[in-house]
Amino acid sequence: MDLLNTTGPDPVHTTCPYCGVGCGVMAYSDGGTPVAGDKDHPANKGRLCVKGASLHETTGQEDGRLLFPIVRGRRSEWEQALDEVAYAIQDSVKTHGPQSVAFYLSGQLLTEDYYVANKLAKGFIRTPHVDTNSRLCMSSAVAAHKRAFGADVVPGCYEDLELADLLVLAGSNAAWAHPVLYQRMKASARDGRRVVVIDPRRTATSELADLHLALRPGTDTVLFNGLLSCSPIKVAWIRLH
Ligand code: SF4
Repeated sequence: MDLLNTTGPDPVHTTCPYCGVGCGVMAYSDGGTPVAGDKDHPANKGRLCVKGASLHETTGQEDGRLLFPIVRGRRSEWEQALDEVAYAIQDSVKTHGPQSVAFYLSGQLLTEDYYVANKLAKGFIRTPHVDTNSRLCMSSAVAAHKRAFGADVVPGCYEDLELADLLVLAGSNAAWAHPVLYQRMKASARDGRRVVVIDPRRTATSELADLHLALRPGTDTVLFNGLLSCSPIKVAWIRLH
């Protein structure tokens, strides 16, 4: 979906926070189309899925948004709320030392937000305890990358997915979860390119598959162990449905 708006003042260039594709977004405040895909961004090249194209709908003033601070159940002013937090941190540092303070951050923050939070924690409060739910999310991938490649690296890039002769998608419904990247994989289909989807479910992504391995739930480890140690013929016993 290309919603590029060519009128109005210079847009703010930002990033869609909804999924890991990291699409570039241009946000407009001129009353026209509020958001558009960034044509120059390497991840999406101007495209946005419906989630990214609806970003502005999450920034309204409707009921349910936290528009002011609440301290101990009561509406408060920002100055008072910030003082409360600052006093609590100061009190903890004075009584128990800087390492008594920890920050647990959202995995949806942008790089600049992480920088500021780390600066506050490590540079000013002097606690090393700063972490995000991204660590839980990525810890298994990090362990696997270290064992496979010797380092925590990202072993591929989006162009690799377009250029690969064989794409294997294991348990991934990219068509719903990472729509713009799925569209790139779909658009790069060509003679000889094969796609294997390993998923017990028949998802929207499996429509792209030349081979859909609808494993019984719980047998994926058997499949991968078999592929690692045996010829393809020997893993043929895995029961599919
Ligand atoms: S694919 Fe959709 S949800 Fe994901 S970053 Fe891009 S616009 Fe946002």
